[in-house]
Amino acid sequence: MTQPFVSEQARPYQIALTHYLADIPIRRLIFKRFVLLLLLFSGLFLALAGPIYWQYEQKQQEHMLAQEETSVVAATQMIQKEMYEQLHLLELLKNSPAMIEYLSSGNASDRIRLEVLFKNAATTYNRFDQIRLLDNSGHELVRVNMPGDEALAVAVEELQDKSQRYYFQEAKALAVGQVFVSRMDLNVEQGVIEQPHKPMLRFVTPVLDANGDRMGVLILNYLAQGMLERFRLQMSRRIDQQGMLLDPQGYWLSNHERSNEWGADLGKPHHNFATLYPEAWPSIADKESGVVETEQGLFRFQSIYPFDFTLRQWSHFRARQGPLLSAASIDNTAWKLVIFLPKEVIQAQSVLYQPLGRTVLALILVSLGGMAWLLASIRVQKQMRRRYHQAVTAELSDLYEHAPCGYHSLDSKGHFIRINHTELEWLGYHREEVIGQPFVQFLTHDSQQRFNEFFAALKTEQEIDNIVLEMQCKDGSTFYVSTSATSLKDQKGHFAIARTSVFDITDRIKLEKKLELLANLDTLTNISNRRHFYERGEMEFQRAVRYQHALALLMFDIDHFKRVNDTYGHDGGDIVLKQLASTVQDSLRDLDVFARFGGEEFIVMLPELSTEQASMVAERLRQQIADMQIILSGGETITITVSIGFAMLTPDDKQLDALIKKADLALYQAKDQGRNQVVEYDPSGER
Ligand code: GH3
Ligand code: MG
Ligand code: MG
Repeated sequence: MTQPFVSEQARPYQIALTHYLADIPIRRLIFKRFVLLLLLFSGLFLALAGPIYWQYEQKQQEHMLAQEETSVVAATQMIQKEMYEQLHLLELLKNSPAMIEYLSSGNASDRIRLEVLFKNAATTYNRFDQIRLLDNSGHELVRVNMPGDEALAVAVEELQDKSQRYYFQEAKALAVGQVFVSRMDLNVEQGVIEQPHKPMLRFVTPVLDANGDRMGVLILNYLAQGMLERFRLQMSRRIDQQGMLLDPQGYWLSNHERSNEWGADLGKPHHNFATLYPEAWPSIADKESGVVETEQGLFRFQSIYPFDFTLRQWSHFRARQGPLLSAASIDNTAWKLVIFLPKEVIQAQSVLYQPLGRTVLALILVSLGGMAWLLASIRVQKQMRRRYHQAVTAELSDLYEHAPCGYHSLDSKGHFIRINHTELEWLGYHREEVIGQPFVQFLTHDSQQRFNEFFAALKTEQEIDNIVLEMQCKDGSTFYVSTSATSLKDQKGHFAIARTSVFDITDRIKLEKKLELLANLDTLTNISNRRHFYERGEMEFQRAVRYQHALALLMFDIDHFKRVNDTYGHDGGDIVLKQLASTVQDSLRDLDVFARFGGEEFIVMLPELSTEQASMVAERLRQQIADMQIILSGGETITITVSIGFAMLTPDDKQLDALIKKADLALYQAKDQGRNQVVEYDPSGER
């Protein structure tokens, strides 16, 4: 009961809130907030997860590249080893006794021995298209061809002059012990590229006889088919199978896309790495090894110089003892191994491109969206509630402050703790002049007592209604209010606050007073009527009885009034009555009670007078009436007399009427005794 606003009004509050919200585009507000929150959340998520994912992706790339290293090393080693083997064989043939003996003797049997050695070498290794020995003039001395699976020696008469071929020209420039290696190209037979393609390298070195004289050159036509196939096999075991081997000009010696190979040889000069991967080429052409990242993907490249023994690389030769390669040989075989990881392949490895990763990401995004929506709804609802609350509070405050009645709250000591604007206006005070002040201070003296009683009662009662108080304004004026108060208890159940409503009832009180006055007055004479006499007289009578004070009662009646009426008419009689009342009223004290008791019969109560004093007053009145010069409307002047009876209060008189009766008896006696006289009641004369 002390907190009715919370529980009992909860439901109306809900209904009112729903009404209030009906006009507000809540969904739009929520959506706006949702978008903002979603952007914020996504931003935060990106800011947090972005760098982590970036790192993860870098790691992923590093990991993939690390995996590629095996292929790079394996392929590089395989190519180098293959090339070394050819050098070994070249050395072996050059330094073989068959070679030296033939060059020294030049006889047919030695020649056949050498031919057999060449055939054995060609058949055993199965990778030489031709093995030849040329003399110093460029003419073939021994030649073994390998057209199929079997090596064939060419007859002496069919041997040719090769002095104009580039490899012989190169050989002439070689120092003893030096080796020339040609660039790898496709074998051309009678001006046409041989089919199927025969990728070929020529190994050329001068040969010496037993005396150490230079007798000619040894030439190995090496078929690189097997090496390239092994290279492709190694690459095919990689993740995306995209491995390439480039010649020094950037043409493909080997490519996963076979049609790209041999661009220069096949007359397709733009069929090269630079054209297909323009972004990557400058770095790859420039550097020995490394990684290039482009829009297309990652390139891991490694330069391979199989014949450069100045480099610290895997080798069976020691630079001092090994063959000295001509500068052109090293340039001709400066190959590049390139491993390509297309963007799609890298991404495919990322968790984000895998079903689980995508599901997790989707879940995170959906959760972020859900969270944003939930938060947006909660916040908007809260905001709406707060706005509604503010509106209601403002409305309630306005209602409270400007209600047509006054409101105030008093603490347990009766001091103001709150007061509304209306009541302040009535009182003419500022709020700060009132708050903290005792309420009684703003009451008239008469009302203070009543308020104290009423306030004391409020400590035990829940509610007290319609107590009339007279309030005192700052300007000294007063007004009447009807107050009703409810007591509010503190947590211990003790009276804490009186919440009071105050209605201005000044007009009502004034009207009531006027009505009361009218009800008490005799309309003709304007003095109290019989009823009012009894009301006031009873109070005076009781007081006199209680305190045993003196009290006199006078009754008087106009003598022969009928004659006045008969002579001057009823109106004339009325004039007489009025003047008599006025004269007597002026002659009496304020505390005396004077009233018209009957037609032309009057009564006066005189408190606190002794018998003598009362007798004197009666006599004085009789005389004053007799002396009255009454001017009637016709201009006539008349006089009247009255007979007066009076009685003093005695301890026997318990009722006012008893005293009246005594005065009345005395009045009769005065009439009997000749009128125009005062007679005191004589108890002995009563029968
Ligand atoms: P007495 O000396 O014995 O009193 O003679 P009286 O003529 O006065 O006799 P009484 O007291 O019986 O007469 C009362 C008269 O007063 C009768 C009535 O007409 C007259 N009267 C009563 N009320 C009024 C009034 O309001 N106006 C006028 N004009 N006459 C009244
Ligand atoms: Mg009379
Ligand atoms: Mg009379």
